[in-house]
This record gives sequence, structure tokens and C-alpha cells, in this order.
Amino acid sequence: MKIHEYQAKEILREYGVPTPRGFSAFSVMDAVENAQRLGGDTWVVKAQIHAGGRGKAGGVKVARSGGELEKFAGEMLGMHLVTPQTGEEGRIVKRLLIEEGAQIEAEYYAGLVVDRGSQRVVLIASREGGTEIEEVARDTPEKIHKVTIDPGKGLLRQDAGDVARKIGIPESAVDAAGEFFMALYRVFVEKDAMLLEVNPMILDRGGRLLALDAKINFDDNALYRHPEILALRDLDEEDPAEIEASRFGLSYISLDGNIGCLVNGAGLAMATMDIVKLYGASPANFLDVGGGASVEKVTEAFKLMLANPKVEVILVNIFGGIMKCDVIAQGIVAAARQVALNVPLVVRLEGTHVELGKKILAESGLPIISANTMMDAAKKAVDAAKGH
Ligand code: GDP
Ligand code: MN
Repeated sequence: MKIHEYQAKEILREYGVPTPRGFSAFSVMDAVENAQRLGGDTWVVKAQIHAGGRGKAGGVKVARSGGELEKFAGEMLGMHLVTPQTGEEGRIVKRLLIEEGAQIEAEYYAGLVVDRGSQRVVLIASREGGTEIEEVARDTPEKIHKVTIDPGKGLLRQDAGDVARKIGIPESAVDAAGEFFMALYRVFVEKDAMLLEVNPMILDRGGRLLALDAKINFDDNALYRHPEILALRDLDEEDPAEIEASRFGLSYISLDGNIGCLVNGAGLAMATMDIVKLYGASPANFLDVGGGASVEKVTEAFKLMLANPKVEVILVNIFGGIMKCDVIAQGIVAAARQVALNVPLVVRLEGTHVELGKKILAESGLPIISANTMMDAAKKAVDAAKGH
């Protein structure tokens, strides 16, 4: 689960990470009042969407007067913001963060991720903050420093200080940087985060370190023990199809292709997407209906896929293990009858009672294209999409 920058900064503050003072705003009036509450004469107006890269796209503006602040807030609210992270469709800005302006001396990068290789949390830091860390990693990997953290010991003060020195933090601020990194690690562990990024972490002209931007992604599987995080969920920022899917216990992720895939089991779903790609098409979604593919679930899955105008064919690839193929076939037939199926349906069944399952599909009278192997199914789906 993702949250907004202003929410992430509130969490960081609770853990003692210094951030600029600021307030969220939902209207221009809010924004102006917040700027008055903050005082001073320079404010930053920041679009709150669940994506980065806002700076270059016009989603971060420094206002040097009350008039400018009002103007920027007015322009940004309701704006269609397209950044490299939003995809072409972009996002509509509905919330702003108004902050006191910072006087930037240097911009650094600090992040924590779960590293699958070492199976540990890794602190990543760089002197090249503010810019895209992916570019730094590609072009100048020597500027990236990492600490693999032992979960039993946590992030050690010594290691945190060493990293701070390596990225060029002046000696006077090294202790503060160490505290900063250790606090980030506490947030990461206690809140069950999967990714935490402060980009940029800045040193201001007064010698103070601040989190100027903040991003935290949480582990969905741990949300049950964090009602306070769940309360920060912004459904406006999530894909409506994915929200609907989660209501029915379906694991669904929208993608860009034209082949709707309905599969049981995440591994088989991944393999199905791969083979669709291999035959030159792209999946419209990842969809795992789970072990018990009930009529209700299959029906909902069909509805979800058919609501996507890009879907030109549906490919069902089910392995009957615990669930028998005849039961699944009955489910598919019932679901296909319930929804007005207006695209070709390719079905590949394998497993227990497969012959009976195929017979049910064949005798249903529905225009189902039956397939035997995964290869066969992928080819038929791709061909059907071309003909559609
Ligand atoms: P992102 O582009 O979505 O990652 O948004 P950021 O919050 O990282 O802001 C982008 C850039 O705007 C930062 O790297 C800074 O250079 C600049 N910026 C953000 N806040 C301030 C501020 O208070 N003062 C100044 N001068 N620049 C800022
Ligand atoms: Mn940033």
C-alpha cells in the first residue's frame, strides 16, 4: 500500500526525523490559510499523488509571495499531472502539501529496501540526491553506498555514521545523519514497510538535515496489524478494478495488454503471462482466482476483465488440483452465461477430471475455444485477438 508524501512525513516526524513544517490542503483557501499559519515569505506547493517525478512535471513549485502561492495552488489542484511514474494517463491532483521553503545547501538520497539476495533490509545512500536514483545507479554506481542490516542488531550507529561520511555529509552533521538513518530504519521495521525513500534528504544553509521528500510503501500482508496505516489509504489513487477485485478475494493487477488472463495460482498466472508475451501479445491483467475457483469468483473475474475496453480475448488457464476440472468447467459455463461475453474465450484445463471438464465446455453451446497445452492456449488466444 502506498501513502502520500504529507502522510509519510507525519510518520517520520513521530520517529524524530526532521522535516520541513507543513500542512496538507484540499482547496486554494486551505492552502492560503496554511501558508499564513506557517508564516515566512517562501512556501513550497507540492502536488500529492502516489507517484514521484513531480518536480520536473510541474508538481512542485516554490512560491515567493502570497499571490504566487494562491496562483500555484489554483493551477495545481485539479491538474492532470503526468510524470515518468504515473504512466501516460497521469493523475488528477486533489491534495496539496504546503510547506515552509527550505534553503538547500546539498541534496542527498537515503532509502531502505528489502533486498531479496541477502534477505535483509538494506540502507542505500548517495550524494546524488534529488535526481533519479535509478540513473545514478546505472551511470555512476560508485556514488551509491549500501549497508546490509542484521535484523538482530538493527542499524548500528557506527555503520550509519560511516555511510553519512561516505556520501559527503560534513563532519558537523554526521551524528545527526546517523540518527536520521537509524530513525528511518525504526520506521521501516515497526511499520512493516517494503520501501522507504527520502529523496532528497537535504542539508540546509543552517546546517540542518531535513527530509524534503518522503515515500513509504507498506507490506499489504502486514496491514492487519496497522489500522493506523490502513486509515491513510486513498482510494482515489488506486485502480478501481483492483479495489473491486480485492472485495472478492481475487488477486488482480491491471496491465496494458489486450489478453485477459484468468488463472488459478500466482505461479501459473505468471507463467501464463510469460507465454502470452512469448507469442507476441501482452496480458491485460494478472489475475489469480485462488485455489477455490467458485462460480461467484469466476463470474466476478469475467466482469472485471470485460469492463476493460482493451480486452480482446479472455484466456482461462486452470489447473484442477484440489478443485476438479468438471467443477471448474461448470463454473466457467455459468459465469460466461451470466455476463454478456462479447469476446472470444480460450480455455485450457488440466488436472483431475479433465476429460469430463472438456466435455462440459464442448456441450455448453458457448463459443469456447478449447486448448490442450499452455502453448496451444497462448497461440489460440493471440490468434483470436488478431481476428477480433
Ligand atoms: P519529486 O520530484 O516528486 O520527487 O518531488 P520532490 O519532493 O523530491 O521535489 C523535487 C525537487 O524540488 C527537489 O529535489 C528540490 O530540488 C525541489 N524542492 C522541493 N522542496 C523545496 C524547497 O523547499 N525549496 C527549494 N528551493 N526547492 C525545493
Ligand atoms: Mn523526490
